[in-house]
Amino acid sequence: METYLAQLLSDLHAATLARWRRFPPHFYQAGLRDAMHQPPEGYAEQRAPMEMPGNFEASIGELEDWLHGKPAITMFDHFGFTPDQFPPAEQLTEEQVRALVDALVRLWVAYNFLPTVPKKTPARVFYPAMLARMAEPAMLMEHGVNGIEFCHFNPEGCPFGVEYCDCKDY
Ligand SMILES: [Zn+2]
Repeated sequence: METYLAQLLSDLHAATLARWRRFPPHFYQAGLRDAMHQPPEGYAEQRAPMEMPGNFEASIGELEDWLHGKPAITMFDHFGFTPDQFPPAEQLTEEQVRALVDALVRLWVAYNFLPTVPKKTPARVFYPAMLARMAEPAMLMEHGVNGIEFCHFNPEGCPFGVEYCDCKDY
């Protein structure tokens, strides 16, 4: 498992880096650079985008493409990964599952999918929720962001359970 996981993490990193090089995330083009949104290791700043941030019309165009019957493409498809590449949480140590969640968040962010990561929820609980979301159709935006919420501010209906729900704190 250790060897397999090292390879998977390396593949996730490579995919993240490739996406950054092809098309740096929207927030980065727009000048927002907080900790979660740092470029991946190996990304050279001078490969900066040719396109300028805040392209509102392009963003609307993407939305229209999506609304007008482009085939349903999942996040897995966008990323070039398949569900069976990801071992179930039960087979992973705490450290391994955390490394996977971290790598996945970076990959999502590279593709302008910005997840609301629950702070109280253990990686072992959040990981399967990420995998499930990745199997659903998702619109890829190149000129905007796609916020992904897991919980809709209702602790009772929280996918992570009342115990791990952050919403009470909002
Ligand atoms: Zn919640």
